[in-house]
Amino acid sequence: MSFVLDALSRIVPLALNTAGRQRLAILIYHRVVPAPDELRPGEPTVDEFDWQMRLLRDHFNPLSLAEGVQRLREGSLPPRAVCVTFDDGYADNERYAMTVLRRYGVPATVFVSTGFLNGGRMFNDTVIETVRTLDEPTLDLRDLELGVHSLATTQQRLAAIAEVLTAVRYMEPQERDARVAAIAALSRVPHEHLMMTDEQVRNLARNQVTVGAHTVNHPMLASVAGEDARREISDGKRYLENLLQQDVDYFAYPNGKPSTDYRLEHRDMVQALGFRAAVSTHWGVGCGDSDPYQLPRFTPWDRRPMRFALRLLLSYRRVDPLVSGGL
Ligand SMILES: [Zn+2]
Repeated sequence: MSFVLDALSRIVPLALNTAGRQRLAILIYHRVVPAPDELRPGEPTVDEFDWQMRLLRDHFNPLSLAEGVQRLREGSLPPRAVCVTFDDGYADNERYAMTVLRRYGVPATVFVSTGFLNGGRMFNDTVIETVRTLDEPTLDLRDLELGVHSLATTQQRLAAIAEVLTAVRYMEPQERDARVAAIAALSRVPHEHLMMTDEQVRNLARNQVTVGAHTVNHPMLASVAGEDARREISDGKRYLENLLQQDVDYFAYPNGKPSTDYRLEHRDMVQALGFRAAVSTHWGVGCGDSDPYQLPRFTPWDRRPMRFALRLLLSYRRVDPLVSGGL
């Protein structure tokens, strides 16, 4: 298979006319789980993450975000350049992913929302973990204006989670948290520590993983007042800099969709606060014209090496001029 992948990784860029062009693919991960989790079907297991990183090492050119951004600016990127990033600050990044990254020498950046370190939990995880523990066939959230959901099958549980998260995601943070707390009260959710501790963040940095900022409380910046947005961005940066005693140069916008989750004013705040670059979740790859404060990213989701490699090779076509000109 390695031979086929080798051939593909040469032929596809030629066929697509992406060979020799400045292209930077930036992958988004959140978690790496020890075993398949039916309520988190998008998260790779440790074994899947292992072959993915081996594949990147063997057939692509993994770079640190610092090197990727710098060489994109200089026009000196190697072919099939790729950066690996994680969002939010899950403990499994340090517990499982770090070992795999070291095994294959793949650099990575972990963007940490500092407000959840040391025992906190993000609202989406509270919803998922609550639904997991419910024995009832139905989840009645009419009192919260969040509908009635069947929980008889895994598919229905996944649908219930998606519908509730869609409904609460863009609420004011206080209103959202009140509803999520009411959902959590429906069952006793075991408080497994999903996010890192300060010490785990330090350990990542000691192991050559770049630590980036991702605000304190993970608000959709476009949904909060300008001064609050600035404070969220700068407080998250300062917390990590104090913790690590080093500069924190890279930022990821929470949720990350341009104009929906953040606006041009937030991009300007990030630049003014001294970051060197920032990443969005706008789907695509960076090119010479890309705004370094809104670099596109995407999530690899294929479960087979050949498809994973092929989709990554095809992604080098996805250059979106919208991002270079602003929002
Ligand atoms: Zn995030």
